[in-house]
Amino acid sequence: MKILYVSAEMVPFAKEGGLADVAGALPVALSKEGIDVRTIMPAYRKIDRKKFSLKPVKGITPVKINYNGQELESSLLEGKLPGSDVIAYFVENEYFFGREGVYNNPDTKEGYEDNAERFVFFTRSIMELIKQLGWQPDLIHLNDHHTSLIAAYIKRLHAHDNFYKKMKVLLSIHNLGYQGIYPKEIMWFAMFDQSEYYPMSAFEFFDKVNFMKIGIIFSDIINTVSKTYAQEIMSSEEYGFGLEGVLRDRKDDLYGIVNGIDYSVWNPETDELIPNKFSIKDLTGKTKNKELLIKEQGLSFAEKKVPLLGIISRLADQKGFDILEGCMDDLMENDIRLIVLGTGQKKYHDMFEEYSKKYPGKIGVNLTFNNELAHKIEAASDMFLMPSRYEPCGLNQLYSMKYGTIPIVRTTGGLKDTVTPFDSQTGKGTGFTFDGYSSEELMVTISKALMAYQDKDKWAVLVQNAMNEDFSWSRSAKEYIELYNKALKK
Ligand code: ADP
Repeated sequence: MKILYVSAEMVPFAKEGGLADVAGALPVALSKEGIDVRTIMPAYRKIDRKKFSLKPVKGITPVKINYNGQELESSLLEGKLPGSDVIAYFVENEYFFGREGVYNNPDTKEGYEDNAERFVFFTRSIMELIKQLGWQPDLIHLNDHHTSLIAAYIKRLHAHDNFYKKMKVLLSIHNLGYQGIYPKEIMWFAMFDQSEYYPMSAFEFFDKVNFMKIGIIFSDIINTVSKTYAQEIMSSEEYGFGLEGVLRDRKDDLYGIVNGIDYSVWNPETDELIPNKFSIKDLTGKTKNKELLIKEQGLSFAEKKVPLLGIISRLADQKGFDILEGCMDDLMENDIRLIVLGTGQKKYHDMFEEYSKKYPGKIGVNLTFNNELAHKIEAASDMFLMPSRYEPCGLNQLYSMKYGTIPIVRTTGGLKDTVTPFDSQTGKGTGFTFDGYSSEELMVTISKALMAYQDKDKWAVLVQNAMNEDFSWSRSAKEYIELYNKALKK
């Protein structure tokens, strides 16, 4: 089976969020299962051509795409996903991708004004370039709205092209909060026929164009990154952001597959980024990491019975920081330490800075993107806070469990599917969960966790349960292969 895996970001080349982790790991796992998979993404300037030995693909003639009266050239580079034989392609064009950021201008932190054009260019280029590869995918696996126009290209514009005629499409939705909604004028650069644009058509969305909607309508099969999120996005506007009806129309083709995590990167037994390694059999390294990090963050000394709570997150409304703010004072009345790592919306930067001044010695605030510190926080903390408003899958709760760091999560999306509430009677469960999106419920649940922490024996059982969970990619890869087979039968 030949699969072309298309994503706007991919570890280790360019990462903005969880999508990159998935795009870097799933193709490798698929290839281990015997799938002939290749990946393709834009050749952003920041991707180190030398380090990854990227070379122009032999025998490929660059294609010319007319943009605003100029002919822009699109060419193809080739490398490998590190540590594997998976071929990785990169669409190169200086005008659209020769910039510092992936989606956002790093100076202004705002999205590039021509993001619609950039990703139309990316998808149109793919349609032209891959025909020259001498390798014909059976299925194209799309990820999120940056890539989703390809579904319409295959089913409409290129429907009679022999190369594409039988090709199937799977669209993975990683976050429906980002849909790629643009002024309707993008229709023309995207090469869609004007007659296709009318109220309620696949191409129209409240007088605009919505890339995700187009992808959902034209793909053979759709999946999200957890089963619960697949249900939630059909259920209400709160989760579907206006596409709930379109998704309901496709409910028979909508599936959920929870993400795996890369245990070669996130494993306390082998993690080179943490000061002391540890394992489920011997947690002394974890205790040492906690002492070290508390010191490093300039927090006051904490005895063993004082728990350390961690947060690593984009600071966005999605992640539940408004309900955390509502109980911050109650939380900080407890004898705890809290370490926060995140960047994002200014209001949350201000909020955490304010609290770090209000509770000196108790809260460490790091408003940056820092992968090493992320590993250290997972390796040092006793608990991890993730009170998300919605969460398609979520990765940090999975990393946390592996590091014996007990997740406190809201039961939404992937958090619901991966964290089981701890029952102190039976000793079963891996974390603490709450349903209602409110500061009160969050605080009640944190209090439960803080109480449980004082019972060392029970806490030890909980930590063992969490560390024993297995979210390796091979399991998810097998589920994707089942979906590919379903799509191929359509
Ligand atoms: P999302 O994709 O919505 O941001 P996920 O939990 O799926 O959320 O993935 C987030 C990824 O980004 C994780 O790998 C997490 O460790 C990482 N991350 C988020 N914020 C930071 C940060 N400030 N510094 C380092 N890593 C971060």
